[in-house]
Amino acid sequence: CGIIGRVGDGNAIEPLLTGLENLEYRGYDSAGVAVQNGSGIDIEKRSGKVEELKESIGEPLQGEVGIGHTRWSTHGPPTDANAHPHTDESADVAVVHNGIIENYAELKERLAANGYEFTSDTDTEVIPHLIQYYLDAGFDSERAFRQAISELEGSYAVTAMMSGEHVLYAARQGSPLVVGVEDGEYFLASDVPAFLEYTDSVVYLEDGDVVIVDENGVEFTDLEGNPVTRTPETVEWDP
Ligand code: GLU
Repeated sequence: CGIIGRVGDGNAIEPLLTGLENLEYRGYDSAGVAVQNGSGIDIEKRSGKVEELKESIGEPLQGEVGIGHTRWSTHGPPTDANAHPHTDESADVAVVHNGIIENYAELKERLAANGYEFTSDTDTEVIPHLIQYYLDAGFDSERAFRQAISELEGSYAVTAMMSGEHVLYAARQGSPLVVGVEDGEYFLASDVPAFLEYTDSVVYLEDGDVVIVDENGVEFTDLEGNPVTRTPETVEWDP
């Protein structure tokens, strides 16, 4: 339902939680965040409201790069386990997703047959395992992400991160995804209001786009990695 991602200096948790609150109007049943803590990925997720998620985050999470999600269940009930972000077994890959992966059952079967263990009922969970499958096969992070995305059928806006990297990977097909651009700070979101407190400079992604975001900027490409030109526009709003 709602996606927020953030790369920059200082703690990402405030812009992530603000983003989730800004996306509440879309409706949702669960919420969660994941941040890079310097040595791994910390995740807090649960069914219920963003307010309840905030209360669950007892020890403050800390990290400059992170992702967040508000879920509107399509596959699996609104439980804590089904809330996003989803990960591979070792939590080296964290993913948030809007939409429906139509071929998740066959991907899940293939991954399970290769020993990948699933912990949720969602269609989304195939994505982190599929990325991990290609990382295990020796692909670098970018190639593993591209390969996994190219095997998905259905509709998706996806944002992913890999443990220890100051990078977000994102792709869209049939579900909205936008990039917010500020000096040294970048956002990914399903909808512009998510980050309007932080920037009004927005790039609207198109179907088939893959973007790679780090503290130096945003790389806009197609699925194969060919560069595409996407230009930021300034959006106007009443604060
Ligand atoms: N299909 C996914 C799920 O059920 C994503 C739903 C959404 O867009 O929030 O978890």
